[in-house]
Amino acid sequence: AKETGKARCVVYSPAQNGPPEHDISLEAAMFQAVREGEFLLYYQPIVDAGTRQIQGFETLMRWKHPTLGMVPPVRFIPIAETNGLINLLGAWALKAACVQLRQFEEAARRKLYMSVNISPRQFRSDKFLDVLDDALAYSGLGGEQLVLEITEGTLMVDPVHAETVLARMAERRARIAIDDFGTGYSSLAYLKRFPISVLKVDRAFVKDLPHAAKDAAICNAVLDLAKHLGLSVVAEGVETEEQLDYLNQRGCAFIQGYLTGKPMPAHVAMAALTEDKYT
Ligand code: C2E
Ligand code: CA
Ligand code: CA
Ligand code: CA
Repeated sequence: AKETGKARCVVYSPAQNGPPEHDISLEAAMFQAVREGEFLLYYQPIVDAGTRQIQGFETLMRWKHPTLGMVPPVRFIPIAETNGLINLLGAWALKAACVQLRQFEEAARRKLYMSVNISPRQFRSDKFLDVLDDALAYSGLGGEQLVLEITEGTLMVDPVHAETVLARMAERRARIAIDDFGTGYSSLAYLKRFPISVLKVDRAFVKDLPHAAKDAAICNAVLDLAKHLGLSVVAEGVETEEQLDYLNQRGCAFIQGYLTGKPMPAHVAMAALTEDKYT
């Protein structure tokens, strides 16, 4: 209890502008948060760009701190990546998301898929395939209902190892999505080398559509590339009808963004699925 008070005390400290100290206090609070069960999962709909019917969800982690409120993932994921806690949190998220999808499917009375973020460290962990198998076995979910989101960087750190892991994922029929596509430093050669199924176009290329000519050109090029490679595309961060119209007209099959659904707790997603007029 003494340790608890201490961790919280540091967190309460108003000196939150110095990143190093703040990271340390957040880090201490994170271990506490794991013990207290303060991490939760939100789900954001991934919809058909034409019909807007929900096809799947992306699992997004949240940390609800008793006094700090919602701590955004951009603040805590990098810390968890550094101290290794991401392996624990990631394994939990993957399993919980698979179980949740079964419930979503019951509510919707149709097949859906779940997209889960896999951090570089998780992907590198030699336990990762066991974690994946455990999540699938425990939930009873078929691997083909799972999309694992990784970044270009994750593949490039150790391409030989990545090749092995991706082959194992493919054996389980889990699909691989490249998250934040186009924002990394890699060449396109990896699209040839690795069994990728989905490209998630980063919000950076979507947010100024349709007026920004360069962004439009990039989106069109990605859609073209994907079409010829037989990949599907999810446009991220779609906030306006104009963006949706543009992407839909250009043949982007799937979108995700505040326009068609913000990340939401499971019970809200359940209600959305039950009310889904297209089901
Ligand atoms: P991401 O994987 O690129 O996730 C998409 C982010 O965009 C999410 O932020 C989502 O809430 C946000 N977003 C979705 N639609 C819109 C929109 O229309 N407008 C705007 N402005 N934003 C939108 P979030 O939930 O804060 O997550 C941030 C990042 O944290 C994620 O980026 C991902 O890299 C990481 N993250 C979140 N959950 C997990 C997790 O469970 N595991 C791992 N390894 N990383 C996670
Ligand atoms: Ca993602
Ligand atoms: Ca993304
Ligand atoms: Ca992102």
